[in-house]
Amino acid sequence: MRTINDGFPIKQFKGIDIDTSIQSSSANYYTYSSRVVKFIVIHYTGNAKDTAKANATYFHNGSRGASAHLFTDDDSCYQSVALNNAAWAVGGTKVYKHAECRNINSISIEMCCSGNSIVSEKTINNTAYLCAELCKYIGITADTVDIFVLRHYDVWDKQCPAQWATENSAGWTTFKEKVKAILRNEEGLTVSQYEELIEKIKELDNKKADKSEMIYDCIDHNMPEWAHKPVQWCLDNGIVSGTDDAHLDLNNTKLWVCVIVYRAVKFVAGLMKIKI
Ligand SMILES: [Zn+2]
Repeated sequence: MRTINDGFPIKQFKGIDIDTSIQSSSANYYTYSSRVVKFIVIHYTGNAKDTAKANATYFHNGSRGASAHLFTDDDSCYQSVALNNAAWAVGGTKVYKHAECRNINSISIEMCCSGNSIVSEKTINNTAYLCAELCKYIGITADTVDIFVLRHYDVWDKQCPAQWATENSAGWTTFKEKVKAILRNEEGLTVSQYEELIEKIKELDNKKADKSEMIYDCIDHNMPEWAHKPVQWCLDNGIVSGTDDAHLDLNNTKLWVCVIVYRAVKFVAGLMKIKI
């Protein structure tokens, strides 16, 4: 929910500039200095084939008894009505299905069609990005998309967008999942998520540090030559034993301890003229 008093707060989405050069005739909407917006409503134009620019021009040129804030097509977007004004988009004479969503508290996006009154995947994709921008602007999160992003069909039973106008429309579900995914990717981490991430990185770093230390489990070509004899002597004399027969578990420091012990014993033995 957001109190909107800026008519054109979003300039661009997914690299597409929002063109505001062709405004709707003021005969087609209610004017407010500000209004509280909670919902985003998705429509289709219902024409066989049209463009965002053609729609903006149509509503610019006369009193049409209808309007929408934004029009999207495969590669462009026109904003026809300022967001602080209420477009005539979701109203109707029929009984409303939705308890709350009306023109006064919603933003309407019309998707243009690319033949046979079908909205193309490209236009749907562009609309998802625009919708996500609007969600961020009015405070709809990935977790609340299902509540606040609606089809015209959800407001009252208008078959709009026609290709999604069923109760369990897979296309509509996919669209909303796309909007959620965009929002999740762009939302920052919460403090607790951030702390959890830092802990995980620390854990990984510790594991890496452990693994980077060479461990010698037997006397072979991996163990430095200078340590072979001292380690063997320490083993023979029970000074080192390892975790089991096959795992000496000696790191570099322990190798050096073996060498020092061996040299010290040899030194003392030499003094005492004992052969070891
Ligand atoms: Zn509609």
